[in-house]
Amino acid sequence: MTKLFDLIARLEGWYPPKTADDWDAPGLVTGSSSQIVEKVLLTVDVTDAVIEEAIQLGANLVVAHHPYLLRGVQSLDESLAKGANLARAIRANIAIYSAHTNADIADGGVSQALADLLGLSDAVALSNGEQTGHGRVGQVAPTTLGALAQVLASRLPATAGGVKVAGDFDQLVERVALCGGAGDSLIGAAISSGADVYITSDLRHHPAQDAREHAIHAGGKPSLIDISHWAAEYVWLDGLAARLADSFDQVEFVVSDVRTDPWDFLVTQ
Ligand SMILES: [Zn+2]
Repeated sequence: MTKLFDLIARLEGWYPPKTADDWDAPGLVTGSSSQIVEKVLLTVDVTDAVIEEAIQLGANLVVAHHPYLLRGVQSLDESLAKGANLARAIRANIAIYSAHTNADIADGGVSQALADLLGLSDAVALSNGEQTGHGRVGQVAPTTLGALAQVLASRLPATAGGVKVAGDFDQLVERVALCGGAGDSLIGAAISSGADVYITSDLRHHPAQDAREHAIHAGGKPSLIDISHWAAEYVWLDGLAARLADSFDQVEFVVSDVRTDPWDFLVTQ
């Protein structure tokens, strides 16, 4: 019999909570470390649909990337979504656990999974040049910006927003910087790394425009590729499920089918 404590110990060996960013709140959200776990659902986000999926599956644990109670909570009023979802999980004996920035930075973590999706070689962390840290930078076989974006679009799970690119379609790309999740704070590191392109999510107007102005002034790079935050992090889940299954052969690990990207359709002009 596997207890939640055993699973948490393994996860925290791979993703030590003390390596999370100061503002972060990874760890156990609901549940008892002594409860028995036979089925686990892996997801980027906890949502109403994910809790429903967990109940239908008979899961005892949801492992989520994003902490469900990251910001201050004054109430679990069940007329509100957060209270209702947590109450449903607790009543169904479903524990919720998250590994967030501690999973982002790890070898075998979120940014590494995105780097592996593109086959980056010699990848190191973008934030510090080491094996662990935020983002990754490495090499790909020479390609064009447009072809790289097409590869990304074909390998990421589908989302309404697709893959947005700032740069010339035919630009030569050999050095790729990336960061799973919202990575505009690492634009400066991407520029310093000499990357031909920087791939991340949630790029806002001003940081993106400043980066493109810098690139145009400095010779054209890095170009930018903006991808779905959910899709960028979802690619970590299959590898995590396989790794957990190797460690716990009595437990079933299921990657959620729910697309928690908030956008539903795109109207092109
Ligand atoms: Zn994220």
